[in-house]
Amino acid sequence: NNNSNIRTYQGITYDITDPKYQGLSKNALKRLLKDEVWNATRDQRNKFQKEKKKRKSAERRKLIQEGVIPPPPPKRARTEIEPSPVRVVVDCSFTSYMHDTEVKSLQAQLVRCHSANRAGLHPMQITVTSFDDALKHAFEKKTPTFTNWKNIEFSTEPYLEKFDTSKLVYLSADSDNVVRELEDDKVYIIGGIVDKNRHKGLCQKKATDQGIATAALPIGEYLQMASRKVLTVNHVYEIMIKWLETRDWEKAFLEIIPGRKLKDSKLIGEEEEEEED
Ligand code: SAH
Repeated sequence: NNNSNIRTYQGITYDITDPKYQGLSKNALKRLLKDEVWNATRDQRNKFQKEKKKRKSAERRKLIQEGVIPPPPPKRARTEIEPSPVRVVVDCSFTSYMHDTEVKSLQAQLVRCHSANRAGLHPMQITVTSFDDALKHAFEKKTPTFTNWKNIEFSTEPYLEKFDTSKLVYLSADSDNVVRELEDDKVYIIGGIVDKNRHKGLCQKKATDQGIATAALPIGEYLQMASRKVLTVNHVYEIMIKWLETRDWEKAFLEIIPGRKLKDSKLIGEEEEEEED
């Protein structure tokens, strides 16, 4: 029987005398076959994923039609959009302080900055500096088109190589200075770090050592926060975008700071108003 060398493994048939299978241990053979099955079923898997995506978006459309979930916000008319001259740097030089999962979070936060920029009336020019391999890999895995994104530049260089020190303002919750207005000719640096407050004062110290101005968002002037006033990169960015649109910090804080963080916080000025009436 000339078929005696033919075996099957998970639905694929193979010839045991094929030179590529020679000299392999039972386990090594199994691994190789497993890889071959995996590769052979790629098209099938892709097709399945595509159909799943199609099904999901059809379900979404139906739920929107039935009023179960709100429709996505309308796209802004191109003519409404007026780019802001205010610039933002996200200083990503801290990946060595972060766990893998935190690098992934930072990537997700940068995606949110980009979305806020696209949804905002006054998008800012973002420069991601000290963009290293760890963060780059996270982008390549999750959002490989990032290199084509508008209004955002990814640079391996540190910000000192790219901007005039006198224009830089490092945003930090630990600063004694407070931002009153975002100024057109300034470059505001957001520390690109997710650290669950392990490294308190890290960005403030870096900026002071470099002789760069620092400033905190004026949260304390509007809100008596029950929790710490340290926000995530995307929330800081979204607050800036909201302020450019409304010129109203209180509105920006209330809209962007998540409810769980605002819980038990008080609006400053509330008490006085109560006394008045
Ligand atoms: N331990 C970090 C905290 C990172 S929070 C640190 O040393 O700063 C991420 C970044 O968001 C900060 O680096 C800062 O640029 C910005 N940020 C967060 N809360 C802020 C606030 N209340 N005012 C100004 N900037 C803030």
